[in-house]
Amino acid sequence: MSKVIVIGGGPAGMMAAIAASDKHEVILLEKNEKLGKKLFITGKGRCNITNAKEISEFFNYIPGNPYFLYSALYTYTNEDTIKFFEDLGVKLKVERGDRVFPTSDKSSDIIGAFQRELERRKIKVLLNSSVKKMIYENNKIKAVFLSNDKIINGDYFILCTGGMSYPRTGSTGEGLSFAKELGHNIVTPRPSLIPITSSEDWIKDLQGLSLKNVELSIVDSKGKSLFKDFGEMLFTHFGISGPLVLSASGVVRENLKLKAVIDLKPALGFDELDKRVQSDFAKYSNKDFRNSLDELLPKKLIDVVVRLSEIDEDKKVNLITREERKNLVKLLKNFTLSITGVRPIEEAIVTSGGIDTKEIDPSTMQSKVIENLYFAGEVIDVDAYTGGYNIQIALSTGFLAGSRVGE
Ligand code: FAD
Repeated sequence: MSKVIVIGGGPAGMMAAIAASDKHEVILLEKNEKLGKKLFITGKGRCNITNAKEISEFFNYIPGNPYFLYSALYTYTNEDTIKFFEDLGVKLKVERGDRVFPTSDKSSDIIGAFQRELERRKIKVLLNSSVKKMIYENNKIKAVFLSNDKIINGDYFILCTGGMSYPRTGSTGEGLSFAKELGHNIVTPRPSLIPITSSEDWIKDLQGLSLKNVELSIVDSKGKSLFKDFGEMLFTHFGISGPLVLSASGVVRENLKLKAVIDLKPALGFDELDKRVQSDFAKYSNKDFRNSLDELLPKKLIDVVVRLSEIDEDKKVNLITREERKNLVKLLKNFTLSITGVRPIEEAIVTSGGIDTKEIDPSTMQSKVIENLYFAGEVIDVDAYTGGYNIQIALSTGFLAGSRVGE
């Protein structure tokens, strides 16, 4: 029986430890005082554990190296995840967008199930055990050195230390430094699924405004569309956030001079919206312009739209010209913000970048550089959109690494 050391007690590490324990003695090392600190805050504390879509559809939701994940996702699918937790007594439910959550809405139930399974399998879990160094010789890791000066020897090592976002949960990127020191290429970590910042001075006036059913496009300086989707977004004091914006953030680069173009009424074509505005204007023909948009727009947005429309706010609606009205419709279909960048990586839901997938065997998660080293989870250069895909990636890569380690 070989001794497998798993570093990091997030979903990837816990699943890797469980899978490896079928054939090996396993020690799981976690730097925090408890397991799964990031898992605890996922899905706003409810933990969107996976997605119920066909596994073949997952690849459409993974912008970061989807094909590298083919073996992992087909070896351990979303159905395996659902069965794993249901067998451990966690009831699950499917919500909008096929997102799967525990019925209790408590991420602690997911962590509790993991803990029971780790215990049942007699896996040794060492908490408050931060790995500071990996000790290697002749292309093989011999042991890890912990912050409490302990040295833990092993035959195989699975590195599951996560990305660099939300560092207070323990994911501080140390695993990337270890992998680099061991000779791996690291694709520069960048924030992904992150709010977007913008320079407009009126953005603060919209803070807290949430818009449902809008279409968001990210376009470059030549007008080329880099992202387009439909959904829900939110204005903040620094720019925009919400599910649609987090997904869009993957294409944002600070040096590209990008614009976020919001179609506030995507269900109506230009002419249809023009007709709708005409009918509202007919209804409120004797009112001032600023009082004519109540049925069309949320209150918070009216002041800003009136300002940007360049129509005098006190102008009587029946005096508004055809050209002014057409420009207003254009503004509603192309409500535009100048993008300055994204929030810092610490605030990202996931890290894109990480250990270069070219240096990992996709069918085993084994390093191509160090023979007794494996990787799983967000420490690898993979990332997905929101919807439960990121945790499923952690579980699938964790399972694959754990079940193939030492073969
Ligand atoms: P992590 O969960 O980051 O775990 C890594 C572990 O390694 C940590 O416990 C850390 O303490 C430990 N560690 C690090 N360095 C060392 C060291 N040197 N020694 C010992 N231990 C170490 N994804 C979804 O699919 N659904 C969601 O609902 C969802 N919601 C999210 C909400 C938020 C606010 C955030 C920040 C992320 C969310 N994600 C969600 C993303 C998801 O949480 C991560 O992709 C996932 O946790 C990655 O798992 P992991 O095991 O690779 O890494």
